[in-house]
Amino acid sequence: MIPVTKPFLPKEEEFIEYLNSIWERQWLTNNGPLLNDLELRLKEYLDIKHLLYVCNGTFALQLAIKALHLSGEVITTPFSYVATTSSIVWEGCKPVYVDIDSETFNIDPSKIEAAITPRTSAILATHVYGNPCDIDAIQQIADKHGLKVIFDGAHCFGTHYKNKSIFEYGDISTTSFHATKLFHTIEGGAVFTRDPDLLMEMASMRNFGHSGPDTFSGLGVNGKNCEFHAAMGLCNLESVDEILDKRKSLSLHYFARLKGLKAKFPKLNSSKDYNYAYFPVLFDSEELMLNCLNMLELNKIYCRRYFYPPLSALPYVEYSVMPVCEDISRRIVCLPLYHTLTVSDLDLICRIILRVQNNQKVKPKVIDGLGGILANKAATAINGHSYIHK
Ligand SMILES: *Cc1c(COP(=O)(O)O)cnc(C)c1O
Repeated sequence: MIPVTKPFLPKEEEFIEYLNSIWERQWLTNNGPLLNDLELRLKEYLDIKHLLYVCNGTFALQLAIKALHLSGEVITTPFSYVATTSSIVWEGCKPVYVDIDSETFNIDPSKIEAAITPRTSAILATHVYGNPCDIDAIQQIADKHGLKVIFDGAHCFGTHYKNKSIFEYGDISTTSFHATKLFHTIEGGAVFTRDPDLLMEMASMRNFGHSGPDTFSGLGVNGKNCEFHAAMGLCNLESVDEILDKRKSLSLHYFARLKGLKAKFPKLNSSKDYNYAYFPVLFDSEELMLNCLNMLELNKIYCRRYFYPPLSALPYVEYSVMPVCEDISRRIVCLPLYHTLTVSDLDLICRIILRVQNNQKVKPKVIDGLGGILANKAATAINGHSYIHK
């Protein structure tokens, strides 16, 4: 069985060593030493000043929305994981969708201004598959209209934008350290901001609003994380460079093997600093994609339709037509990509996909004249079948 992803697991002994230290200290949660160490080491690794480790990536989004006191409408992307929209709705705001760019699959900045109303308070955009949004364009629009910016960077660990960690952008950036993500702490997430006051406010909100043992600076909930998750993070951080390298080499291998496929790959904003978090393939047709998925499943290879359906079609939002997103969402799929995926499994996946494409029955086009004959011959050759032409 080849799943779409497998969580990275560190050496058991390394994790057990951390567990032993937890048993010795008997300090399980509430800002323990491992959690502090993880926050420090993450700041070093990412080369950033501020971050707060929280219980998960969805809470990170909710916390960001809460701390920025957003209300009314939040402009967002229809092409992301459901948490991007659900956190907006959960926090009492209304998602207003703006269609995506057909090349990068990120929110299309040229369509944002038309969606701004007097009720708009922010833009919440996802760097889809770890590929940076057009951050400068989004920030410029936000500045012009006095809007806040949140970037959902759940796919972005290790990605840079203009030589800085991608988490440095927006009023707040968030990420997820869920087990399925490139770097994970089993469950976990983080918020990032360059504003120290905002950071203080989120730190307090994450911990019931406490400012001291008996004092409260404001309203808060329990969004903190614990020593066990921090231990997994500390273990995995040791291997993150290796994980990034492996994903890149597997992805390049996929590109090479899938050269003849009738499909497109996202246009990378900057391939140098890209983290290859996923391997999305945009097939030319939904039919070809579904045929490939079926054949892969018959071979016990499981892909995921990330992201389908569009968030703008969720039952609890006001539906709006998103032509680009709806089209892409129907044709895109993520192929298996994880640290222990072998090259021979990857080759098998590519062989199956190409075989499906080459055997697919395409109706030959009947065009008059020589062009038509050539086109029909080409179709025959591609299909490997002989058709009787009219
Ligand atoms: C995974 C993910 C989240 C949610 O993260 P959790 O840690 O699972 O809560 C949010 N947004 C995007 C784009 C994601 O992929």
